Formats: sequence, C-alpha cells, structure tokens
Amino acid sequence: MKAEIISVGTEILLGDILDTNTQYIASRLPGLGIDLYYTSTVGDNLGRLTEAVRRAFERSDLTIMTGGLGPTEDDLTREAIAAALDEELYVDQAVADRLRAFFTARGLPFPERNVKQATLIASARALPNPRGTAPGWWVEREGRVIVAMPGPPAEMERMWNEEVAPELAKRSTGAVIVSRTLKTIGLGEGHVDEMVSPLLKSANPTIGVYAKMDGVHLRLTAKAATAAEARRLIEPLEAEVRRILGEAIWGADDDTLEGAVGRMLKERGLTLATMESCTGGLLADTITNVAGASDYFKGGYVAYLPETKASLGVGAELIEAHGVVSAEVAAGMARAARERADADIGIGVTGVAGPDPLEGKPPGTMHIAVDDGVSPQTISYTYYQGRLATKRRAVTTALALLRRLLLARG
Ligand code: ATP
Ligand code: MG
Repeated sequence: MKAEIISVGTEILLGDILDTNTQYIASRLPGLGIDLYYTSTVGDNLGRLTEAVRRAFERSDLTIMTGGLGPTEDDLTREAIAAALDEELYVDQAVADRLRAFFTARGLPFPERNVKQATLIASARALPNPRGTAPGWWVEREGRVIVAMPGPPAEMERMWNEEVAPELAKRSTGAVIVSRTLKTIGLGEGHVDEMVSPLLKSANPTIGVYAKMDGVHLRLTAKAATAAEARRLIEPLEAEVRRILGEAIWGADDDTLEGAVGRMLKERGLTLATMESCTGGLLADTITNVAGASDYFKGGYVAYLPETKASLGVGAELIEAHGVVSAEVAAGMARAARERADADIGIGVTGVAGPDPLEGKPPGTMHIAVDDGVSPQTISYTYYQGRLATKRRAVTTALALLRRLLLARG
C-alpha cells in the first residue's frame, strides 16, 4: 500500500509550529506494512489544498491528512476533499446531534459555525473524536482511501490509535517493518560500532548505531510478513548485542534514563536528593518527569550563588579554596544535599552553562558528583554546544554517574 501524508496549516509553513503529526504518523506506518512515498504541507488555501488532495488521490492508495477540521473559516480540509473528489457537502444529522450534545454536556451554547464540522460527503464516514469537537473523516472511493484527522496532537493520536491504525492493519498486505532500539551509555559511538561490528553485516535484521543525547542507541530492524515474525527475527540478534554490550545497555525503545535510574533506586529502596547550580533545577525536573518519582526522590535545591551554596551547608572555605566551579564544590553539594534532605544519595552539579566564562573557566566546564556516604564519585569535563544543550548534557551525565554508582554498589 502506497501512502502519503499531507499536513494542513499556514502555521506550519511559517515555522510557527513544528509538524510533529507527520513524524508521529510516519513512524507508525512501517509497522503496518505501509510504504510512505511523500509527505507535504499545504497552507490554509482552498485552491492549493484541493490540488494537493487531487494529486494525492491519483497517485497514492492512502492519503493521510491532519489539521484544518476546525470550525473557523480557514479550516478547509473538508471543503478541499469534497472539491477534489467532486462531491457535495451535506450536514449529517447524527453527527450534528453528537456535536450539539458535546456542547450541552459542557454547559456551552452551540455556535452555528460549528455545524460545518457535522458535514460529510457521500464517500465519507465520520470518525469519533471524544477529545475535541471535530470528527475525522474516513473517505473511500475506487479502492482508495483518504483519512482526515484533527490538527491538535492529542486528538489526532487518539483517533489514529483507536480508529485509523486498526482499520489500516486489516487492509494492509505489505511486509511489516519492526524496530527495536537498545540504549547504551558510557561508550562512544565508534567504540560501540567496533564492538558489534561482526553483527553489522546482518541483512535482516539490520543494525544501525546512532549517537543521541542520552547515549549511543542501536536500532535493530527486521522485515517480515507479520510483526510477530519480525520480532522473532530480532530476538537472537538482540540477545547477542546484549551479551556483547552487557551493563552498558540501560534500556530499550521508549525507556528514558531518568526512568531506568528511578527503577533502580526503587528496587534498592534508596532515596535521592539533588543540589544544582548551573542546571537551575533541570535535573530535579527531569527526575520528576517519571510518574511515581516520590517513591525515591526527596527533593532538590537550586543553589545558584556561592552564598546560597554556603547557606545550604557547602563549606565556604571549600568554595574559597577551590572556586565555585570545581570538583570539590560539586562533591560538597552532593554531600550537603544528601545530609540536608536526609537521603541515601546526593547529586551535586556545578559548572559554566555559558556563553561567558566564569572564574576564568570556559563555557561547558562541568563538575558532577554523586555521594552515597561510602564511595563518592565525581566526573569533570568541558564540552560546550550552547547553553541549553550544555545543561541537558550535564543532567544526562549526572543520571549516568548515579547509575554507575548504583551498579557498583550492586
Ligand atoms: P481546531 O479545531 O483546533 O481548529 P484543526 O483540525 O482545525 O483543529 P488546525 O487548526 O489545523 O487543526 O490546528 C490546530 C492546532 O493543532 C495548531 O495550532 C497546532 O497547535 C496543532 N497542530 C496542527 N497541525 C499540527 C501538526 N501537523 N503537528 C503538530 N501540531 C499541529
Ligand atoms: Mg483549526
């Protein structure tokens, strides 16, 4: 099945918003055995949108559209599909009733403008949208399909998962591509590549090695008639990669480093506290992105100025002797965080987020410490890629250092 995606909206063409809907859908088509041939973006213009739909309907078995289903005048997706297929729009009573009920249930008056969201053409049926007002469209004619979904990602994703993907899975006959991502930390891209080099010749599944923000990822990709068969092809290769890379692998697929480290703390019944300077709370923020972090995270201090660090128990003489950007102060912060919050482990982060130097140290200078009261560890490095990336890298490194400490403790 040959597919294309059309995202609709002038906002995307102006660069105001990022077209994450296309990425979301594109990443799910291989698993359904559907080949994606084109993606495009069209603004809120009836002529150009109609032309794009007409061309897509001629050349693709499946056209997936997002956006432009709202009630406003510049929401033109339905009108464009109707024009491209030369069919009449009419108001569907059942859809209109559901729409009215949506507003009544929220105690809102029904704006007559919204009636346009209840329109259909002869070849279309409405796809329910419990997260919003605009129903989607499933259009089928001459064995070809056009799907139109709302622009807001939460509405689109629910409609995709509940309505569209199951329907497409039934129809698709193509080979399915399944990927499994194994995530490592602590080894460079070249090193990982070298270690798995005997496996890189494998044609199905294939292995790709990619450097990412949270370490080096290995992507194992298999093609087969069914998803289950593809997964069976991946299994032995995954086992081999795991044997070679061992503890360097911290997770797979959608796992996050903060989630993996959180799980380790929870399993060991240990608690954590942080004291951050240059990351300004980003470490605590990242740790608390995991649901249930309160099981192990006691809290974090943002101690930006030297006097604030001192007031939280980082020795003033330590700061005086080594400078605030130093491994010694990072270690002092980790210890102070642990003691202050009565936690088992503390993390301290101090450095230069940039772009300006501090205490004569260049931007990107970073000192990170973990302290469990037994065998404290520190990491120091200098790597500058802009202020935000520098802060993010420090957070990743802090989590990786914590993981190393937990593994060493056993
Ligand atoms: P609404 O009823 O909210 O108007 P709609 O189906 O008409 O929905 P649009 O008006 O095109 O959708 O977009 C509404 C919002 O949805 C945008 O402001 C943007 O926040 C988000 N959005 C739209 N298209 C995309 C996209 N391709 N990727 C990510 N977000 C998008
Ligand atoms: Mg809209």
